[in-house]
Amino acid sequence: MKTDLLILGTGIAGLSIAVKAAEKYPKRNIAIVTKLIPEESNTQYAQGGIAVVLDKLEDSFQNHIKDTLISGDGHCRKKVVNHVVRNAPKRLKELIRWGAQFDKKTDTLLALEREGGHSHNRIVHHKDITGSEVIRALLHTARELPNITFLDHHFALDLLLDSSRKKCFGIMALHQLSGTIIPLKAKNTVIATGGVGHIFGHTSNPSIATGDGIAMALRAGARTRDMAFVQYHPTVLYQPGVSMPFLISEAVRGAGAHIRNAAGERFVLQYDPRGELATRDIVSRCIYEEMKRTGKSHVFLDATLLSYSHFQNTFPTILKKCESIGIDIRKDWIPIVPAQHYLCGGISVDKNGQTSIQQLYACGESSYTGLHGANRLASNSLLEALVYAHEIVLHIGKHLRKNIFSKKISTPIYDLTKPETPKEILTILTQTLHNVMQHYRGIVLTSEELRTATELLEKLYQEAKALTYQYRTTASLYEVINMITVAQEIVVQSLDQNKNRGCYYNKDL
Ligand SMILES: Cc1cc2nc3c(=O)[nH]c(=O)nc-3n(C[C@H](O)[C@H](O)[C@H](O)COP(=O)(O)OP(=O)(O)OC[C@H]3O[C@@H](n4cnc5c(N)ncnc54)[C@H](O)[C@@H]3O)c2cc1C
Repeated sequence: MKTDLLILGTGIAGLSIAVKAAEKYPKRNIAIVTKLIPEESNTQYAQGGIAVVLDKLEDSFQNHIKDTLISGDGHCRKKVVNHVVRNAPKRLKELIRWGAQFDKKTDTLLALEREGGHSHNRIVHHKDITGSEVIRALLHTARELPNITFLDHHFALDLLLDSSRKKCFGIMALHQLSGTIIPLKAKNTVIATGGVGHIFGHTSNPSIATGDGIAMALRAGARTRDMAFVQYHPTVLYQPGVSMPFLISEAVRGAGAHIRNAAGERFVLQYDPRGELATRDIVSRCIYEEMKRTGKSHVFLDATLLSYSHFQNTFPTILKKCESIGIDIRKDWIPIVPAQHYLCGGISVDKNGQTSIQQLYACGESSYTGLHGANRLASNSLLEALVYAHEIVLHIGKHLRKNIFSKKISTPIYDLTKPETPKEILTILTQTLHNVMQHYRGIVLTSEELRTATELLEKLYQEAKALTYQYRTTASLYEVINMITVAQEIVVQSLDQNKNRGCYYNKDL
């Protein structure tokens, strides 16, 4: 298959690029690949919403810029922050034109909520299921556009590069239903494969978040940045043994819920005067410290103070989840614990979304633009994807004619003749990875722990790599190798940090 534009991933980043490019260049063909079904992505689970300044009387771009810079702890690229914040209203308008619906305050005004780190109410949302509404609208629009081809159940294995390894010409993909491996050649390729949550045992991310795109880019020699900044979400429902624990949106704290220890104390105020509305890095760290101090496995979110009818209207999914496990939010506190949530760094891109490899772009959570600095401000992730999707489509348009298919593509070699890796082997490798990351690359760490993690991960990588000679190429084997590869990069870049900032905290610095 040959295509003008190949997009890896059907989250907000991939789908908005597909829709925008298909509308703008109707004669060009676009293929969008996903390893499962298009509905499954991190975006699907986004609750809180999209940060956009709409109320210019109460709020301003300057306020949003300032909040993003404070949250990023002095490590954001100011130009990028400025650009993203100022373009947010235009990109939101476009998303609404594509059919996304957001809660309204009046017939003409959108309802705006507040989240941690935001000085004003500016979170545009669809109840507490913003992500699934965005995906519904984008998928519907994309499916109506004749020049978009969906390739579901296609697992992207590796990038196709020219012999100098400077240009990208598509990918090698494994069709998971037939078990065949095919080249998907493209003039332009975009990595929009999302996050890395499953490198960590305890994460808010769904199982697709195995860092495949970042690992693929690393294998191809693309530059990555800020991989040390792994964000933990402070309020994830405490449910031991559940593989994807349920997130209690930051907007619940924004609406006035308090964090308490078992004794009922609002301990967060001792760490930061903003209390529950401090940024995620600070709230997560103080919960971690409090759990350590008290020897408890979790703390609580007290929403008993909130208006029940407001909660019912704004957070119906969270309410349903709480009720399903016997929590009555009118009188019970919700048990919570921090969990890995987001990677602030990723594949390094310029203002056009271009990576260090020609004809290769990255967008969304798998990319590093410089917006988030050392700690992403809540609801800035969906926004970043929308703004950069726009830049990528414009840039591709300017260069589309010049890009030709290379005749000299080096194709990686895969093996489909051998048996599949036994599931138990992959489970042991994954559990070992989780243990290493939990014990040596947690919310608070030491340099010694990082050095131990480096050694253990190298050993683990060698064990996983050896399996590729013994067993056939499968998505699950690749996912394990990808997770270890990205974990190694996170640890290496963590060791490079010489000061604590945002969500990176080393006790030795
Ligand atoms: C529970 C939760 C709540 C959140 N709430 C918010 C919020 O309110 N506001 C906000 O701004 N952010 C929020 N976030 C973060 C935000 O949702 C994500 O950062 C964002 O959706 C990422 O979008 P994306 O398009 O980059 O990736 P994703 O939405 O994760 O999409 C990745 C896509 O890539 C595909 N893929 C991955 N690997 C491969 C492969 N090897 N081959 C083929 N396809 C592949 C996946 O199948 C998927 O289709 C939340 C995240 C979570 C987990």
